[in-house]
Amino acid sequence: MDIISGISTSITLARRLREISKNIEDAEFKNLLADLSSELADVKLEAASLKDQIAALKEENALLKQTASPSDEKPTGRKWGCYQFEGDTTLYCPACWDSKRRKSSTTRINTKFRHCPVCNAPIGS
Ligand SMILES: [Zn+2]
Repeated sequence: MDIISGISTSITLARRLREISKNIEDAEFKNLLADLSSELADVKLEAASLKDQIAALKEENALLKQTASPSDEKPTGRKWGCYQFEGDTTLYCPACWDSKRRKSSTTRINTKFRHCPVCNAPIGS
């Protein structure tokens, strides 16, 4: 059941009860019914905001799944002390990969050394 439509139905029911209550001269009953109606209106707003949040989180989650590296991924080669992965010519920091499973692309310093901008490790061949 969709939570918003469920709440809307509850609000409609409360409204009908309020109409019926016109014939009932019980102040407490009317007060409780008014409280119930306002409570339901608040819940509906809250549910709508939660629905938006869920949609935003789903989107973020899908993006993270796309960009996250699969857990069974392994470096396929080494070049100048850096890791390489299949289908990718970028040279990655082995320390970042070994410790955090994080692909940090390295930058070239000179012919002998490269540098990892994430962990600041100098990588030499
Ligand atoms: Zn690193």
